[in-house]
Amino acid sequence: MISKKLAQNFSFVSDYFTLLLDLNPKKFPQSIVFEGLNPYAQCFFALELARVLNCLQDASENCNCLNCRWIRENKHPAVNFVSQLHYKGVSDDSKTVISVPQVKDIEKSLREKSDYHRFFIFFDAKPIPLNECALSSIERYSPVGYNIFPDSSWTLGHINAKTFSPLTPNILLKCVEEPPQGTTFVFLTKNRADLINTIVSRSQCFKLPFVAKKLELCDIKEIFHKYPNINFEDAFLISDKLQNYVKDNEITADFLLDLILAYFVNELQISNEDNYISKLQNDINLLSEARKYLNASISQKNVFDTLLLKIARGAK
Ligand SMILES: [Zn+2]
Repeated sequence: MISKKLAQNFSFVSDYFTLLLDLNPKKFPQSIVFEGLNPYAQCFFALELARVLNCLQDASENCNCLNCRWIRENKHPAVNFVSQLHYKGVSDDSKTVISVPQVKDIEKSLREKSDYHRFFIFFDAKPIPLNECALSSIERYSPVGYNIFPDSSWTLGHINAKTFSPLTPNILLKCVEEPPQGTTFVFLTKNRADLINTIVSRSQCFKLPFVAKKLELCDIKEIFHKYPNINFEDAFLISDKLQNYVKDNEITADFLLDLILAYFVNELQISNEDNYISKLQNDINLLSEARKYLNASISQKNVFDTLLLKIARGAK
């Protein structure tokens, strides 16, 4: 399963994927957006997902099967890095973006069958040696045995306005929309707003916070302490508390939805009562709906009030 280091730092995202891989690996997302401050953490997370999905044995962190080894050494044919420094001639200084031929080549490669679960990991990269910050990130987040940034010749960064050539996103969109089974695109961003909206809306977004505070989940548990027995009066009270929580902690409403998701997923894992499980599954769907409303610029108050009223009402 996903490396211990990453699972400890990003427990709820890790729990989510562990559960998904256990229950229904065929439903693995075709496109993932990682948000957060640390691109190395995101890159290792993506690689670990690729490793677990392609492992020939038990996917344990120490597994030494061919696929696991190749992924750790960045030699696996199914795991592709996509940045302006990739798909570039050795002395080609003119290539400064993810280019049209580069993305067309991906499109073409998707038409070929693969026995592997393919990953395309998109990021920004600079041809400068690793600085101290990058080195400490690698030390902090690198799972056991990875040997990917050994020559220190380039630095990993987040997708920004200059990463793609203007024509590429539309070609890419087609790939992201209808990839063959067993294909996953991963975009490493500081904030999903740095990526075009049409790609974001076809992706599952996850925040990998720089400092993973265990406290946060406790806060959500406290706010939801009456759950699942929430009446309409409680609903408004909880909605107010959530809005204050966003303000007080200087987080986005979206990030708070991630925390609530983490709380529900956690409950899902410890419960074995059918009614409660189906209530949780229903409410997890309500969270995705709330996220859509937030993205559609509906006010935070409306989104949280509606979400909580629907949770109080229960499934129709
Ligand atoms: Zn393996």
